[in-house]
Amino acid sequence: MLYATQAPVDLAALRRNLLAVRSLAGERQVLLAVKGNAYGHGAVDVALMVQRSGCADRLAVATVPEASELREAGVTLPILKLSHCFAEELPQAVRMELSLTVVDETTIRQAQAAAEAAGVTTPVHLKVDTGMRRIGAEPEEAAELVRLVDDSPNLHLEGIFTHPPVSDMADCHDWTVAELQGFRELVAGIEAERGPIELVHGAPSGVILGHDLTGMTLVRAGVMAYGYYPDASTPHTVPLEPVMSLVSRVSFIKRVDAGETVGYGRTWAPSRPSWIATVPVGYADGFSRANSNAGTMLIGGKAYPVAGRVCMDQTMVDLGPDDPTVQVGDEVVLMGAQGDERITADDLARIMGTISYEVTCLITPRVPRVYYDS
Ligand SMILES: *Cc1c(COP(=O)(O)O)cnc(C)c1O
Repeated sequence: MLYATQAPVDLAALRRNLLAVRSLAGERQVLLAVKGNAYGHGAVDVALMVQRSGCADRLAVATVPEASELREAGVTLPILKLSHCFAEELPQAVRMELSLTVVDETTIRQAQAAAEAAGVTTPVHLKVDTGMRRIGAEPEEAAELVRLVDDSPNLHLEGIFTHPPVSDMADCHDWTVAELQGFRELVAGIEAERGPIELVHGAPSGVILGHDLTGMTLVRAGVMAYGYYPDASTPHTVPLEPVMSLVSRVSFIKRVDAGETVGYGRTWAPSRPSWIATVPVGYADGFSRANSNAGTMLIGGKAYPVAGRVCMDQTMVDLGPDDPTVQVGDEVVLMGAQGDERITADDLARIMGTISYEVTCLITPRVPRVYYDS
């Protein structure tokens, strides 16, 4: 018996979004970021679908355990670890044949030592920091570090990349244009010295949707593959479909009198008698407590407001004063479409004061992901 609360994941929608990425990327390779459990969508199932269908060429993770989960499930696609490894993680990372990110002399020497110890050649990507100020080599150091990689017998310079901080924001368009132009010139200078680098990349969704990809041979899609524009101001150059929903079922219905309170803290009371539905979903499922007295849920194609505080495992909604048509067992949509109504991760993000990325990432392992093709 499945838990009443589930997250249906539409793999066909994910494939269509990746086709949209390909339509913008042209001949370039497409990498899909599956870090954070594929932004909450389930990394193993997403990766295996990508591998079967060929709708992306490569995958990227944030951590070694994320990559290990994929390899154990039979994922043989190239996987880039987007941040550098600590030394103690390298033996396993090299054994799994990950493409490693290097950021300085130390990380290059450590990667070389690990690859040498394993008797293999390891692909590495040099991360250059062109403005995020998070990780990466200073642009002035890049040529020198490329030489160091090229001189490391067990390393193969597979790529060079950057990650722009405001590529999704329309009012920062010119700043990103200049940033990407600087990166392009930096790479051109290095390539003039040592020949072409196979994978040149600096395009997360914001760049794929709103910027010139000249000079790049790979794009790194994340949020747009899962159906969301990274920012409301990002150019909507291709249509995207949300991939994941969050649904549950009504578990209990009762009438409360005017002035009675509902839920922890007694924060909500109707001014007239009202019918209340209880739904077995709460913040332990990733339905944020910020939805208390603020969010809505769809039942029978109609939106009903959350009444009182979201609990850990249950939440109440106000069905209003009239005899309810809603019944125990009815489907409840917390994120997704029902009838003509739709609640998106962007809608939930507005209530929570965050972005769609975090909304889908926060859906917890307790919620079974149910895969289907629309
Ligand atoms: C997560 C991530 C991406 C994908 O970004 P989106 O905005 O979700 O498209 C690309 N590159 C790097 C380095 C990342 O960490």
